[in-house]
Amino acid sequence: MKKYASLGLTCLTLLTLVACTSKSEETKASSSAKTSQKATKSTSKATSSSQNTDASEDSHSDQSSSTGLSDAADNSSGSTAVNNGTYYSVTGKYGDEIIIVNKRHPLPASYTPGENPTALAAFQQLQADMMAQGFSISYGYSGFRSYETQTQLYQDYVARDGQSAADRYSARPGYSEHQTGLAFDLTDAAGNLLEEPQASAWLRDNAHHYGFVVRYLPEKESVTGYMPESWHVRYIGQEATDIYQSGLTLEEYYGVDGGDYAQ
Ligand SMILES: [Zn+2]
Repeated sequence: MKKYASLGLTCLTLLTLVACTSKSEETKASSSAKTSQKATKSTSKATSSSQNTDASEDSHSDQSSSTGLSDAADNSSGSTAVNNGTYYSVTGKYGDEIIIVNKRHPLPASYTPGENPTALAAFQQLQADMMAQGFSISYGYSGFRSYETQTQLYQDYVARDGQSAADRYSARPGYSEHQTGLAFDLTDAAGNLLEEPQASAWLRDNAHHYGFVVRYLPEKESVTGYMPESWHVRYIGQEATDIYQSGLTLEEYYGVDGGDYAQ
């Protein structure tokens, strides 16, 4: 990760992050204990009304039973992801195992890897570099989230807003990328999910230097299954740069199924 980190200043492209400005906060709320309390609060607020749903992984939970990994995400649709009995993955161009989690590729309730130390170190360097550049970033973040945590969050959202509304912004349990320990949500200095345009733009264009990709891109909801989230980064490693340069989502880049839940 150090390699990636060193490049952090380059800011080439300016893909706009239009979408990023949605409601992010809810998502975060659910996050792990690490997330600041502030973030949490804001999160919940955002949820209901809004706009779309960013829900992505930040708050997943749901009903599905833990069992069915295989069922839920079958490869029938042409996905190249392989299930090893616990999770789905593909092999990257540099030989790394890339875990795939989306609405078609769930994780079992028993999968509780915690935060990946390599990813966490890279994320902390990313935070520090953004702060050093003057962006309004806090050290609060939402990282690993267990199946149980997601379940509670999701249930709370359903109780508050109803399931159909909750499904728009909160992921069901087992479907959150946060359960991999490889996903992190950045928060701003006020403790809310990062949405500030300039910081979001910088993140989108530079996260790959740290081994991350901004996972939920604007105008890719039909592919990722989630509304854009300017604050959510997923650790990939070296290949993050290839993915970033391709302009594709993780699903498109690796040719795996995505979009909405199968059922
Ligand atoms: Zn997230």
